[in-house]
Amino acid sequence: MSVAKQRLIADLRRGGISDERVLAVMAAVPREAFVSRTFVERAYDNMALPIGFGQTISQPLVVAAMTQALQVGERMKVLEIGTGSGYQTAILARLARRVFSIERFKALSKEAERRLLDLRVHNVVLHVGDGTKGWPPQAPYDRIIVTAAAGEVPQALVDQLAVGGIMLVPVGPDPVNQTVERITKSEQGIAREELMPVRFVPLVAGALPTYEG
Ligand code: SAH
Repeated sequence: MSVAKQRLIADLRRGGISDERVLAVMAAVPREAFVSRTFVERAYDNMALPIGFGQTISQPLVVAAMTQALQVGERMKVLEIGTGSGYQTAILARLARRVFSIERFKALSKEAERRLLDLRVHNVVLHVGDGTKGWPPQAPYDRIIVTAAAGEVPQALVDQLAVGGIMLVPVGPDPVNQTVERITKSEQGIAREELMPVRFVPLVAGALPTYEG
């Protein structure tokens, strides 16, 4: 392992990541493959980095913390909203049976698809569209993770969560003050709890204007 990567893994441990499976996957997936050439030197810095279209690849500690909180099992079907670079998708793909990931920018989805193919990640299905509607054809999902900040929790996603399922979603309209909520569904209904403060780009509902790519 490179020195930069070892330092990052130590940072993750210090930041509260104790699940060895999550740490192993964070060590195995090459983050440098998910950033542009400009940022390769900083791929193992514990920070979000630009990926174009005003979007970012999430901070490694946030990826690891959300992955840990999601408690993904190897037989599970996972839905991700906000493919972005595909980095979180690749992390999830190593832990789950299958990952469905939705991105509203076609160009980002295409780039993510190429990266995942290069890394031989094959248990992933990418779609371009409005993720606030979820992806009904494959519902229900054992786990759902939203990697953009929602003003409020999209009801379609709650509906597509399996009984016994866990959903993580950053909530808060304020760009610097959001909280990841964990939503669990049981026979009795829905329970919501606040997990951690985060800073994500906004989840934008509705169709993308054609000029935006
Ligand atoms: N998980 C990504 C983080 C990407 S940032 C990574 O590891 O790189 C969040 C992404 O959510 C952006 O790419 C943004 O375009 C996308 N997004 C925002 N609103 C969306 C929506 N309604 N449906 C699908 N994707 C959306």
